[in-house]
Amino acid sequence: MTPFDIAAHLLPFTRYRYDGETVPCPVCGFASHTPVAGLDRRLKRLSTVMCDRCGLLRTNPMPSEEALDRYYERYYRLDYQGAVSAPRARHLRKRAAEASERRAWLRPRIPAGGRTLDFGAGSGEFVSAMLEAGFDAQGFEPGAAYASHARQTLGRRMVEAGWRDVKHQAEFDLVTCMSVLEHLGTPVEALQAMVSWLKPGGKVFVMVPDMQHHAQKGFGALHFAHVVGFNHHNLQYAAGRVGLRMIDMVNPTRLLFGRGPAPDMAELAQLGLATARASYIDQNPVRAYFAYQLGRARRPLKRSA
Ligand SMILES: [Zn+2]
Repeated sequence: MTPFDIAAHLLPFTRYRYDGETVPCPVCGFASHTPVAGLDRRLKRLSTVMCDRCGLLRTNPMPSEEALDRYYERYYRLDYQGAVSAPRARHLRKRAAEASERRAWLRPRIPAGGRTLDFGAGSGEFVSAMLEAGFDAQGFEPGAAYASHARQTLGRRMVEAGWRDVKHQAEFDLVTCMSVLEHLGTPVEALQAMVSWLKPGGKVFVMVPDMQHHAQKGFGALHFAHVVGFNHHNLQYAAGRVGLRMIDMVNPTRLLFGRGPAPDMAELAQLGLATARASYIDQNPVRAYFAYQLGRARRPLKRSA
């Protein structure tokens, strides 16, 4: 990666250079879509569209898996944490606090001492937190810097691999997938893998950004790493496609699923579409962006007044 590559990557109002193709909705399979925005939160040119059936937001063209791998290798930490190699101490402290909060919510909902798998485990804080509480916990993470950091404390309980490369039996009481699904161009296939790794009665906990809530930021809610954008309804639709039904929720897009009778898929698609339309079509993402930025700029003044 040359200084020229970094400069080109950071330069606003230019396109992200990546290989990709126009694909049907990766959640419901419908091809028809409506343009949402042509910029992302870094003011780079990025085309985002909304599925006309379930309301899922997606990057169009969808980056290929190789293009995404390349992006994570080169730019991801630079873009989102200002770091290029190892995770920073402040970041790690924040992650540890989040992990114990998530454990506290999940603990009464799964068997004590049960077997758990963290899908996209990052720097490993959630796996550590579950081990401390007596669970038989493990995780995997494709990012080399984070996985090797986690392996220092977790050893073989942390595997450096992507989800297509890990092999498991139906052995887990809980699979967690936190802040991961929005990065994947094939979220239903990933959910299918999670389901195949569950014991009978096992559960899946999924956490993604709530694009309905983030709509207040307009196109500031969009960025290259998040190739799909969910709301409460189309997240349940995606899970419903692999036989999962919501059994509990922390908030609209932090949901606990178990195998169960299929939800009403047509209704979930309708609600997903109506929600996305109200958030990103009826409300103009450019106007919303500037209103939000203006509000942010005013807030400190109000406080000091
Ligand atoms: Zn769709």
